[in-house]
Amino acid sequence: MIDGRIYNFSAGPSMLPEAVLLRAKEEFLNCGGSGMSVLEMSHRSKVFDDIINAAKDNIRKILNVPENYRILFLHGGASGMFAAIPMNIGTGSGIADYIISGNFSGAAQKEGKKYLKEARIAATTEDVNFTRIPKQEELNLSPEADYVHVCWNNTIFGTKYQYIPETNGVPLVADMSSSILSEPVDVSKFGIIYAGVQKNLAPSGLALMIIREDLLGKEMAITPKIWKFATQDEKNSMLNTPPTWPIYIVKLVTDYLMEQGGLEEMKRRNVEKAALLYDYLDSQDFYISTVEKADRSLMNVTFRTADPELDKAFVAGQAAHGFSNLKGHRLVGGMRASIYNAMPKEGVEALIAYMKEFAAAH
Ligand SMILES: *Cc1c(COP(=O)(O)O)cnc(C)c1O
Repeated sequence: MIDGRIYNFSAGPSMLPEAVLLRAKEEFLNCGGSGMSVLEMSHRSKVFDDIINAAKDNIRKILNVPENYRILFLHGGASGMFAAIPMNIGTGSGIADYIISGNFSGAAQKEGKKYLKEARIAATTEDVNFTRIPKQEELNLSPEADYVHVCWNNTIFGTKYQYIPETNGVPLVADMSSSILSEPVDVSKFGIIYAGVQKNLAPSGLALMIIREDLLGKEMAITPKIWKFATQDEKNSMLNTPPTWPIYIVKLVTDYLMEQGGLEEMKRRNVEKAALLYDYLDSQDFYISTVEKADRSLMNVTFRTADPELDKAFVAGQAAHGFSNLKGHRLVGGMRASIYNAMPKEGVEALIAYMKEFAAAH
């Protein structure tokens, strides 16, 4: 870590690899020999065109995206997609199945309701405060649905799907905002994968979408032009001025991930980091892991003590130890350590050392 920087456990926007920040700094005033910053550059310029194409090519390579899928960059973050997806693909039966596993999947369903005939709740684990992911046998899916929507990694609650739901041919749509590029994914099992980029990819202001070709061109007439997936695909995601800076950082981050060995290597590191924390949590009884073991997230580790006052004291002590953003989300309480790709193993080791010290003192 560069002097003065701290281990930032923020759920998003979150840490970016230092090598990427340094590269951006190096190119900040003069990008690609253009004599200007990306911040000042026309999105119609050759330099920017090369950047967006490289970003897309990198995503395709790194995630092994099949030929019959398109890659889009869209305005509005993940929440924008909660509306854009029903508008674009909810036009067959007008019915969609939502599997509710936390706050964001619920928000997606509420937004879907505005545009769909029916935004069905196919399963929910709200009764256990989302401490686990619904199981395949709990899914009450409708065969006529236009799509099934899931939130792959529940950023707030700290759970993740460990299986790919079987939907009998109905396109599976996954919000992967907080797990995108953390490990390999079989893209061919999904109709749409989308993500707000500010967790594991870039600064905020952008959604990445990977969409199967046959889902393009079905949109409702009311769909805003900037969110018509088919049009954005035709226009190389530049119907209007796109968020150029986040797209540029997506390019740098994906360049970096490929240099580092791609998603197999990211998975190896992320499993190693998460195991350090979970093994420690399982080895003692001062801290309590807040979710079911089988569904634990690799990216967002949630835990608490038996006493909310102690949780407060733990969070209050973080700055003195060189950490930030360890406070849990208000829906869960306690603590949350978000350990995306850019969090070094040393950051997790330092956190565990603090946890041990705090437990011993209390
Ligand atoms: C952060 C997050 C969102 C919200 O993203 P925005 O880009 O702010 O709309 C949605 N879903 C998941 C899983 C998230 O982690």
